[in-house]
Amino acid sequence: MNTSQKNDVKISRRTTFSPRVKNARIQLICGPMFSGKTTALISQVQQLRNEGKDVFVFKPQLDNRYADKSVVSHDKNKVEAFAIDKSVQILDYHLNADVVAVDEVQFFDDKIVEVLQKVANDGKDVIAAGLDMDYLGRPFGAIPALLTVADDVKKLNSVCTFCSGKARFSHRISQDNGTVVLGEKDKYVPLCRSCYNELKDQ
Ligand SMILES: [Zn+2]
Repeated sequence: MNTSQKNDVKISRRTTFSPRVKNARIQLICGPMFSGKTTALISQVQQLRNEGKDVFVFKPQLDNRYADKSVVSHDKNKVEAFAIDKSVQILDYHLNADVVAVDEVQFFDDKIVEVLQKVANDGKDVIAAGLDMDYLGRPFGAIPALLTVADDVKKLNSVCTFCSGKARFSHRISQDNGTVVLGEKDKYVPLCRSCYNELKDQ
């Protein structure tokens, strides 16, 4: 290619638009336990509903800590939710919604990444909340992929139980060994990196 050819290259701005779906966004809220993820999700859902939007809320079936058909925050605020066991089930409902919200998104199968992108491609905003690391500090489920495809990422901190610093880790204080052990402050404490490293092997 010579210089004159290079100068001929023009990028034209698109000036006419055919009717197309709304430019939707995927928002991901993540952090350790007790960092206010579900509270943030519920408050957005309530605000959007006050604005007249149809918001469908989904959660994995296995999370039945408080109520079967609700998403409930630790401060007991709640919204009704569809409890589903496969992420593709979201696609049975999303076309009737303006916004799709998903809580405890780390517990869903890997297809959740594809599903939430499909929801956004169909013009529906997505708000997903979940734990970014498991109790051993490992990336949780599909969260790493969701961090990549999300348009907005909000990382929340909790307060370290031992030093009151910013907590990023969910340390398990019960003796259970499975990755998925549901529980509250009887089973997990939020810790900062330094307290986590000190306590994890004890
Ligand atoms: Zn600490």
